[in-house]
Amino acid sequence: MDDLKFGTRNKRGDWSPNGRIEVAPFWAWPPKFLKVLHWLPEYLFPWNAFHMATALAYWYLVIPDIETMKTLSWGWPLYLYAVNATAIFVMYGSIELFYYVKRVQGNRFKYNAKFPSEQPSDVFWFKSQNIDNFMRSFFISIPLWTVVEVAMLWCFANGSATWVNWDEHPYYLALLVFIAPVIHEVHFFLIHRLIHTPLLYKWIHSVHHNSVNPSPWSSLSMHPVEGFLYHAVALWHLVIPSNPIVALFQLHIAGFGAVNGHIGFEKLEVTEETAVDSHAYAHYLHHKYFEVNYGGDGLIPLDKWFGTWHDGTKEGEAQMQARFQEKKARLNAKNTETASQR
Ligand SMILES: [Zn+2]
Ligand SMILES: [Zn+2]
Repeated sequence: MDDLKFGTRNKRGDWSPNGRIEVAPFWAWPPKFLKVLHWLPEYLFPWNAFHMATALAYWYLVIPDIETMKTLSWGWPLYLYAVNATAIFVMYGSIELFYYVKRVQGNRFKYNAKFPSEQPSDVFWFKSQNIDNFMRSFFISIPLWTVVEVAMLWCFANGSATWVNWDEHPYYLALLVFIAPVIHEVHFFLIHRLIHTPLLYKWIHSVHHNSVNPSPWSSLSMHPVEGFLYHAVALWHLVIPSNPIVALFQLHIAGFGAVNGHIGFEKLEVTEETAVDSHAYAHYLHHKYFEVNYGGDGLIPLDKWFGTWHDGTKEGEAQMQARFQEKKARLNAKNTETASQR
């Protein structure tokens, strides 16, 4: 595929897409029904459908029976950890293998011309972004994902959560499935905004931001506090009446879906003519500029409402720079004030 039909490449070789990152069309006023109809399949396929498929596969093939889950022990949680780790190894690992190791599409659609393996840095364990990200994912974040999963299943098994049945309330549960990505977006925005406050950033979130040029392994490379808070989105299903399959779907949007923002390519070419959109650009810009796009790519335009949206255009860039200048001026004024008070 010719990526220059879809974007431009600068002197350094970094590719950026033409056009802007559009927020979901139902936010438009007056409503644009046709656009919403076009957007729907993209909302469902392939990513959310994939997360639903994995949730169903887990429920029918992996999750132990209710009786087993009534008691906390080491056996079934370790088994769930092994399945989660294997699934992530296969899913993230395949993207990493084909697009980062074998580099099947070279630099086509790649936002940053460089590959992390070419950039050793002291901020990483063993000076390697790949090793650091891999170890943090498998030894910190995936165990914490499993902790959340076990807590949630244990609560359902013991009746401490309101378990809604599919035959009794199919429309309610279908609606809950449909809005699970919205719950994810709001939860993620809030915890993400919180850990970007100066103290928490330094202590917690800087670990994730060490990867300025993220790759799939960066997705779950987090400090333990972030690793827990991020996956804890599934615990909302203990508060609202729900069903373990929907709760698993919610958890998989977080665990498996974390890769989306960190793929590093706008499109993953599947054949000569077809490609899968990664939806990675908004979060790529977050890793590049830190203080923009705290949420996803516009399902709920929280960043737009809070003035931190970068839509990938020159205007978006100018707005961001203006905001950074304002912040700098505010800080300078504050410093001068404190200095004069001394
Ligand atoms: Zn990230
Ligand atoms: Zn961040």
